[in-house]
Amino acid sequence: MNCLQEVRVSLIALTATAVLSASGAATQQDTDPKPHELAAVPVCSNNKGQPVQFSNTDRGRPGLAAGMAIRDGNGNPTVMRSNFSATPVEFQQFIDRHECAHHQTGDVDRPHPPRNGPEHLMNESISDCVAIRRLRDEEGFGNLSFEKVVEALRTDMAKIGFPEPSISSRIRNLTSCFASSASARDLIDQVLHHRGLPQQ
Ligand SMILES: [Zn+2]
Repeated sequence: MNCLQEVRVSLIALTATAVLSASGAATQQDTDPKPHELAAVPVCSNNKGQPVQFSNTDRGRPGLAAGMAIRDGNGNPTVMRSNFSATPVEFQQFIDRHECAHHQTGDVDRPHPPRNGPEHLMNESISDCVAIRRLRDEEGFGNLSFEKVVEALRTDMAKIGFPEPSISSRIRNLTSCFASSASARDLIDQVLHHRGLPQQ
């Protein structure tokens, strides 16, 4: 039986494209930004030890980068990368690891909690935390790269229409996770233990 499981759309990233002159006379707008190179996919397996595959698609809204953690039609754990070339590499790397974390923590195989309810927001915070710590510990992200992630996150969430408190709350969580000496693995193990789920 095919089980297309929960689809988790994480952060949707829009590119900052409009460069407008302060003068009202200039109306030129860059609507066709140069695409970014695609980031190398990270190592990723779910909490059952199954490898997670990454797949690129240009479907979805043009210019809008997004990730989804799913099981595909054959039941394979998958991260769908949609329009990744629309966003900077650092942010692509973040989205990949955020979606991977939904597999690592077992979210994908659990019932989806009510959207934007506390449990959903907690899952998102956990995936953010795992992602930024992996970038720090495995990819050598320092403050500059961290700021690039935060800047893209802030810009894109604002464009999508998230209220400022949601944006700043998410960034506070990321900042705190980035500053903590704990690892991504520490947090994943803690979540799996709490949920009584197997650990790879
Ligand atoms: Zn997510």
